[in-house]
Amino acid sequence: MATIAQSAHVVGPKTQAVVDTFARYVVPNYRRFPVCLERGSGSRVWDAEGTEYLDLFPGWGCNLLGHCPEPVVRAVQEQVAKLVHVPNTWYIEQQGEWARLLSERSFGGQAFFCNSGTEANEAAIKLVRLRTNGQRYKIITFTGGFHGRTMGSVSATAQPKYHEGLGPMLPGFQYAPHGDLEAVARLIDDRTGGILVEPILGEGGVVPAPAGFLQGLRRLADEHDLVLVFDEVQCGCGRTGRWFGYQHFDVVPDAITLAKSLCAGVAGGAILATTDLARHLRPGMHAATFGGNPVAAAAGIAAIRMIEEQGLLDHVERVAGVFRDRLTALQASCDAVRDVRVLGMMVGVDLDFEGAAVVQACLDRRLLVNCTQGHVIRLLPAMTLSEAEAHEGCDRLAAAILECAEASRQSVPA
Ligand SMILES: *Cc1c(COP(=O)(O)O)cnc(C)c1O
Repeated sequence: MATIAQSAHVVGPKTQAVVDTFARYVVPNYRRFPVCLERGSGSRVWDAEGTEYLDLFPGWGCNLLGHCPEPVVRAVQEQVAKLVHVPNTWYIEQQGEWARLLSERSFGGQAFFCNSGTEANEAAIKLVRLRTNGQRYKIITFTGGFHGRTMGSVSATAQPKYHEGLGPMLPGFQYAPHGDLEAVARLIDDRTGGILVEPILGEGGVVPAPAGFLQGLRRLADEHDLVLVFDEVQCGCGRTGRWFGYQHFDVVPDAITLAKSLCAGVAGGAILATTDLARHLRPGMHAATFGGNPVAAAAGIAAIRMIEEQGLLDHVERVAGVFRDRLTALQASCDAVRDVRVLGMMVGVDLDFEGAAVVQACLDRRLLVNCTQGHVIRLLPAMTLSEAEAHEGCDRLAAAILECAEASRQSVPA
């Protein structure tokens, strides 16, 4: 990419050697920056050359508590020395305890554990179908949503770019415009079994559900006996300052899917479903070999305890205030910033030009951020980010945006 060639970022010899190994041996399905990360602590990471970065997008939203949070590291270290894995033919205390903690912080249902977000959504799809023995197999999802990459979840994802070259998709998914209750009502027929939606679109650009939308879906689901599933893979687990994203919207779903943040960086996923719905996932109908394993459970439990012991749900509100103040001030001084959306540690800065240059300009300033939808700078900072670090990040981000906005103005013919 031209922007990388022009950037101030210098690729050191250790990093170059790793890049070369990848070029030969690793499937090239990711667009990677030529940065090789070696260790991290909190919201800081260091690359193979020893350069320090401030990470406002740690682990693509997985490292909810920053890099290597001490209580989680300790819990995992203790657990791997006792039991790493046992199959779900046996009981382990940790899985039950983990399910209890999640249930008590949501709507009192039951947990099925898996390893990723896409798997959690596959479980949701099966659950919707199993409830009516496949009679009502259709599921309504929304434009701008993202549900994962396996064939069921990618079929549930309405954005066409994720379908390219993969057809035919799994039958039964119908896409409604995000926020459009009338369109949903029109799509419902006697084969419709469920609705799947992100309370806050993540990959879709950090977009909270419009006022009344989720309650409207709840009403439609009740009227037509549909299962209402919220995909909380990105917004769940405390990130927004409440345990789950839906808790901002005065609505209760029948199921939520979780992953990314769930184990504070260790791989883990889950679906939480009401007890009445969960009973349809009978023995033999679904499984995940690694699901709910002792290491993931230890990490998941430690993450919940750390959030509570350190008062991080309240802390998130304060740090979100810093982002809100600083970025709305930037918006006021820079026409190229169209919108600023902050929900706890989910931050979107909507630009009127391509955001890739901003990501690069941030990297040049030793700041890690993400761009989604081509023009939304997305931050998913750790809940442990300090207010001072938020200011530091906003300083660098604002400088990068102003620089790129200026450059994009000059490249537009008058
Ligand atoms: C990332 C994401 C997924 C997919 O999770 P994987 O762990 O990558 O399979 C699903 N839904 C949402 C909302 C996500 O952000």
